[in-house]
Amino acid sequence: MNVLVLNCGSSSLKYQLIDMDTHAVLCSGITERIGEAMGKITHKAFPGTPGQKVLNVEEPFADHTAALGRCAGLITGGEAPVAKASEIGAIGHRVVHGGEAFKQPTVIDPAVVETIKKFCKLAPLHNPAGLMGIEAATKLFPGVTQVAVFDTAFHGSIPDYAYLFPIPFELYEELGIRRYGFHGTSHGYVAKKLSQVLGKPFEQTSCVTVHLGNGCSMAAVKNGQCVDTSMGLTPLMGLMMGTRSGDVDPSLHPFLAENKGLTIQQVDSLLNKQSGLKGICGLNDMRDIHAARENGDKKAELALKMFCYRVTHYIGAYLAALDGCDAVVFTAGIGENDPDVRQHACETLGGIGVKIDKERNYGFKRGQITKISTDDSPVAVYIIPTNEELEIATQTYSLVNGK
Ligand code: ADP
Repeated sequence: MNVLVLNCGSSSLKYQLIDMDTHAVLCSGITERIGEAMGKITHKAFPGTPGQKVLNVEEPFADHTAALGRCAGLITGGEAPVAKASEIGAIGHRVVHGGEAFKQPTVIDPAVVETIKKFCKLAPLHNPAGLMGIEAATKLFPGVTQVAVFDTAFHGSIPDYAYLFPIPFELYEELGIRRYGFHGTSHGYVAKKLSQVLGKPFEQTSCVTVHLGNGCSMAAVKNGQCVDTSMGLTPLMGLMMGTRSGDVDPSLHPFLAENKGLTIQQVDSLLNKQSGLKGICGLNDMRDIHAARENGDKKAELALKMFCYRVTHYIGAYLAALDGCDAVVFTAGIGENDPDVRQHACETLGGIGVKIDKERNYGFKRGQITKISTDDSPVAVYIIPTNEELEIATQTYSLVNGK
């Protein structure tokens, strides 16, 4: 069976069609600038194979339904069709926020759509986009089972003492204010991969997963169950990120209001868009930061140190919380590709059982699962490439096939 995976942003739509027998990606693509004067699709048929064909389309798309309709045309017809429409067996949607209602992937029906709508308040930038994708796919592929896979779901096992904030309890009851966590599909995927690599049942695997991409988060997984994660009510909490601050003193809001005359919205925008790596050195892509450091940029050096220190700090906290850990797993754009970040982040963790082998760390091969700890390290350290699309497809496929 082929599963179509959709990941919608407010003006973008990413897709992959995956053959679940072989896990081959039949095509992948991204549609950008939906709703603008001119839109763009970059479509790859049979990506990464000798038969790869790249198609570029530039035309306006009024909405997500128009955009997905055009993508469906590229998938099933035209210059490089990869499957017939009838061969799309199920559609898996990435939905960012499932609140407390969805701790598992869920077959979409009108009641599920209504519940996802309720969580738009908690993810105002993301859930409406996911809903647009669901609406488009339901119109264009009537009769094909649609499944919602939630970013928050993997964190559904976090205990109350870890997910509650120490603020008046009524606010949790009234507004659902608590830690939800994000990137759950990625944390779950690499944790499961680790259990396969170690040859252990997932239910007996404990690890700290470190997802460092544009957004950065960590999770503590005890015996296959997530018990803590660094993001909170929103994806602003926790680690330092490209443009997001991560943890700051919450009194910053009134302080900035009083001393800089900023509104709450301006402070929120400052913490989300002007902070993190960018706030310290003006750059938010780790590759640019390394280039700047090499040219003697002291602020770029400081930004890197701050970024790594936060990772160290959280690894230490999660090892303490786990009380027994098989491995620390680095994943996503920075986690998979940046040996300097991994080296610095683990440098001071030898005393608590995390010892990196410098040669292994720097000798990693892009896209490969690699053990980078020393043989005598009590806690292993791995690079495990994430694959959120495959995880969404796998969860969709399992649900549709009753597994
Ligand atoms: P997203 O969170 O959007 O899925 P990714 O996981 O693709 O992001 O990570 C994107 C980030 O990864 C980029 O902003 C960049 O900082 C970083 N990155 C990608 N390649 C490298 C590399 N070779 N070295 C260091 N950082 C990298």
